[in-house]
Amino acid sequence: MTKTERITWLDETRIETEIAATAAGADKLRVREILDKAATLGGLSEDDVAVLCAVTDPDLAAELFHTAETVKTEIYGPRIVLFAPLYFSNICLNECVYCAFRRSNKELDRKILTMEEIEAETAALIDQGHKRLLLIGGEAFPKTGFQYLIDAIEHIYSVKRGRGEIRRINVNVAPLETDEFRRLKATGIGTYQLFQETYNRKVYEQMHPSGAKADFDWRVSVMDRAMAAGIDDVGIGPLFGLHDWRFEVLATMQHIAHLEDAFGVGPHTISVPRMEPAFGSDVSMAPPYAVSDFDFRKIIAILRIAVPYTGIILSTRENPEMRREAFRLGVSQISGGSRTNPGGYATPVEEQAAQFTRGDHRPLDEVVRDIAASGCVPSFCTACYRMGRTGADFMDLAKPGLIREMCGPNALSSFMEYMLDYGSEETCAAGEQAVAAEVATMEPKIARYSQTMMRKVREGKRDVYR
Ligand code: SAM
Ligand code: SF4
Repeated sequence: MTKTERITWLDETRIETEIAATAAGADKLRVREILDKAATLGGLSEDDVAVLCAVTDPDLAAELFHTAETVKTEIYGPRIVLFAPLYFSNICLNECVYCAFRRSNKELDRKILTMEEIEAETAALIDQGHKRLLLIGGEAFPKTGFQYLIDAIEHIYSVKRGRGEIRRINVNVAPLETDEFRRLKATGIGTYQLFQETYNRKVYEQMHPSGAKADFDWRVSVMDRAMAAGIDDVGIGPLFGLHDWRFEVLATMQHIAHLEDAFGVGPHTISVPRMEPAFGSDVSMAPPYAVSDFDFRKIIAILRIAVPYTGIILSTRENPEMRREAFRLGVSQISGGSRTNPGGYATPVEEQAAQFTRGDHRPLDEVVRDIAASGCVPSFCTACYRMGRTGADFMDLAKPGLIREMCGPNALSSFMEYMLDYGSEETCAAGEQAVAAEVATMEPKIARYSQTMMRKVREGKRDVYR
């Protein structure tokens, strides 16, 4: 494979200088100025973020967390969007040293799902109550090549189970060519997501010694190709644990600035995966830059206030306590009831073939109940991309906080649908309380919309959204 052209927007020297300049700690007054600025919902500069990354004083950190909670509530309200990953394969030609799926891990049971198995996984997820999937897998397609992915998406969308169906498929697969992205877009996907793992070129090369993924520039330029192909909702994120988290957060800011400059819109989501132990990977058992819980909370809070209009995704890598806390700090989307081994939903077995160890093993219903009990609203809404509210259109709505007016009622009606069709008695009890509490905080006009939409759902209508 030929090497990709070297990208120019990532300035490692600048990042190192910013980290060195704040090594003595964060100045209290400056931090408070930045937090005041963040509270106006306009986002932060890379320099501001560098200062916040240096906060170590617990009281100052508490102020940061409080500001993040305010910003999150102002823009997103209390809703938490739910999804599940669907692993189509654990076969991979790459050699990422932290991942159980890497090629040289001979102990792993390998599997790539057939279309029938993909339908069976989809059916199992629909029966849990899911409406939104993340299609994900190792970097290797079977004989049909890229067409496999297109077929898989069509098969997933074709599965209907009573009143249930998958209404949005997001995709996390190895970097594609622009033409392949065009074909992917035509299938009706939501977000294309990919993690950079680390933005530090040297560390990247050490962690990805062979395979197509060894080309740093090919990976870091992937969103340029996706956006050029018309996919305007893209999701980014580093894998925390490979390198200094402050470096990764600042580089993420540079990536966002680049996408905004080049395409007029930043990423739709940022994921915050933290490294977990993976079968057969020594690196994953002792990450070179393990991130503490305290720093992890700061990462979420800083990203929340730095790019307030961008969704933040947290997976089942984290345990229930951290996930609960993360709602307040700024996370807006979580996975629930997940399996990271191909075929794991239709045939739950010992997860030897999984990608990494999960921190949250609860079934979806329990996750949903927990969200409702913690004062948030679980949302299964998939309205935005079907209404064409993507890319810059979404950002225009999100930036001034208007998205709440759409998303609030949509969250409630989709949650009502979940409760009626899939919710356990206990979850419905917690859910009805959460719904009533949320409606009580809404402006009268929005509350009326919400009540009308939920009434339609109670009367038997499905997929009610604005
Ligand atoms: N194979 C493609 C790739 O690497 O881009 C698709 C996604 S891969 C299945 C999903 C993500 O899992 C990777 O991007 C990586 O960040 C994450 N991952 C790999 N090993 C992990 C581990 N031990 N703990 C947590 N996340 C891990
Ligand atoms: Fe393959 Fe992705 Fe795992 Fe790397 S992270 S080994 S590319 S599945």
